[in-house]
Amino acid sequence: MTFVHTAFPARVVFGPGSLRQVAAETDLLGVRRALVIATGSARQAADQAQADLKELFAGRIDGVRQHVPTEVAAAARAKARETNADGIIAIGGGSAVGLAKAIALAGDVRIIAVPTTYAGSEMTPVWGETADGSKTTGTDLRVLPRTVLYDPELTIGLPIETTAASVANALAHCVEAVWTDKANPITETTAVEATRALSEGLRATLQKPQDIDARSNLLYGACLAGSALAQAGTGVHHKLCHLLGGSYNLPHAETHAAVLPQVARVQAPSVPKAKARLEAALQTDDLATGLFDLFRQANIPTSLRQLGLTEEQAEAAAAKFPQDVDEILTRAWTGTRPE
Ligand code: NAD
Repeated sequence: MTFVHTAFPARVVFGPGSLRQVAAETDLLGVRRALVIATGSARQAADQAQADLKELFAGRIDGVRQHVPTEVAAAARAKARETNADGIIAIGGGSAVGLAKAIALAGDVRIIAVPTTYAGSEMTPVWGETADGSKTTGTDLRVLPRTVLYDPELTIGLPIETTAASVANALAHCVEAVWTDKANPITETTAVEATRALSEGLRATLQKPQDIDARSNLLYGACLAGSALAQAGTGVHHKLCHLLGGSYNLPHAETHAAVLPQVARVQAPSVPKAKARLEAALQTDDLATGLFDLFRQANIPTSLRQLGLTEEQAEAAAAKFPQDVDEILTRAWTGTRPE
């Protein structure tokens, strides 16, 4: 066995109620002026964090938008300069964490992430910014959150449709982590355990959306999935979703759900051992159809057409992509079961 694996330095604090440790963790990190970034859904949690931070609180940003539009990023950087922030506390989904990363990329600030979805961005050094309909992404250790507080209580109110789509996004990190150039036995094992936690957590959450154990399983799976993505990097699936999301402003998580089963159908046979491990974790005989059926069961849109993409746009995206994805995109557009 021969492989190279890079682990990233991040402190993870996991458990119901861990939001209340935000002040202690900020202090431990040596941050003296913390700028709090929160999505609309996290306003109450941000109020709590702001009160607990006391003199460590430097300011607040409440306007967060998907895919980090460049004007939103510029305003956030200006706010960080104005408030002289040396730390950012991002509370929300991948969009809030993404905005914190845009600030960290331009200045010397450390990020504490408090994720409230299953996107996994908090575990990665990957940043993204969108200008003129085109999303640029890159990797830089300065944007990797130093501390991540996972508080499953903050995810109890995540609507079931958003929950399911976000879990599909996390599953995409796991599935793609087994076939990228940097995939290795450690990322594969991480991805398999993440897939188990996510699929069990999703089935349980569909039955009982407010069950804290089911929500904890999902957040634990999201943490592992993000870490698998961070270490294994991205492949055809993520690149295609970024192209679609950036060019046509499609919802991030739902786009993953529509595309993943179709990419898995084509890519997974090239890694038969990993495919079998993922199938066992997902409790299915076939990875691609298993994912598709799970997404259907969870009522997630399984076609790009349902997300508002036109057939012409799907064709234009296929033409722009550097490798042949015609069949993948045709099937993802119509939402054909990947048999
Ligand atoms: P998001 O952050 O936009 O959140 C989706 C919606 O859910 C928003 O309306 C938000 O307000 C709401 N929401 C979030 N948490 C909630 C909660 N607990 N209760 C109720 N509502 C809640 O979307 P996302 O899918 O989490 O993240 C998508 C973004 O993250 C994209 O820009 C994507 O590119 C990026 N991303 C980056 C990485 C990376 O490694 N850099 C990884 C994954 C995703």
